[in-house]
Amino acid sequence: MKLSDQTLILTGASRGIGRALALELARSGANLVLNARSKEALNTVADEARGLSVQVRMVVGDAAQDQTAQFMVKAAKVLGNFAGFIHNAGVLHPGPALWELSEAQFDEVFATNLKAGFLLAKYAYPNLRRNGSGIAVFVGSGAANYPRAGWGAYGAAKAAEHYLAFNLALEAPEIVSFVYSPGTVDTEMQRQGREATGEIAGMFQRFKDQDHLISPEQTARALVQILLGQPGKFQGKIATYKDA
Ligand code: NAP
Repeated sequence: MKLSDQTLILTGASRGIGRALALELARSGANLVLNARSKEALNTVADEARGLSVQVRMVVGDAAQDQTAQFMVKAAKVLGNFAGFIHNAGVLHPGPALWELSEAQFDEVFATNLKAGFLLAKYAYPNLRRNGSGIAVFVGSGAANYPRAGWGAYGAAKAAEHYLAFNLALEAPEIVSFVYSPGTVDTEMQRQGREATGEIAGMFQRFKDQDHLISPEQTARALVQILLGQPGKFQGKIATYKDA
């Protein structure tokens, strides 16, 4: 896939994997529509990306709001050569057992990981299908594959997000839709895991103590390499950072 002079939407771009992805995509010449809720942090990333000689638009706001998704797609069309999106925004809320989670936390986990991906697809797909090609990457997680005390809502939301990506691949074969499993990455989300209560905190602490963590830059480079190669071979499947 060609990235230079193509426009991609990226959610959750203010820090962590999303920030690293924004910069790696910019290095490959992609113009970007960047989204997150934290305006100042997103602005800093946008400036860093612009420093790499690409065009950047920011859409500040909750990716799970209909209007945010519409604004992102509109901004991508203004930049031109709209080629697709990477839905990377995610929220974990680690620690509480399912019955201890508040309804607001449950809703936020499902809204950010799942609904935001649905809304992006809803507004992006008609445009991408008219062009006859495009890319839709859903940053998923191994949490989708096995239950663990303390991340029930997150695992369920990621499993549903994976399903959404696979279903889109079926419904629109001309758009390459796949899940990207980024590995165990040294970000704020991991820090929140280590600071959680209950046995999940021990698992996150072990990731750090046993040197399992990879850097955001490492996983971002891997995804961009996959995109620059033959992403079509992952249609309706899961790619991991080891596939680069
Ligand atoms: P992170 O450091 O916590 O970053 C999450 C990003 O999502 C931030 O930019 C945050 O920005 C944004 N975000 C959260 N809620 C949002 C919303 N409602 N609307 C728009 N943006 C929102 O996490 P990360 O580790 O980089 O995670 C990135 C993705 O990788 C997530 O989907 C996560 O589930 C997945 N993942 C991570 C790991 C890991 O080990 N780190 C492993 C597997 C999968 P604002 O707060 O400014 O909105």
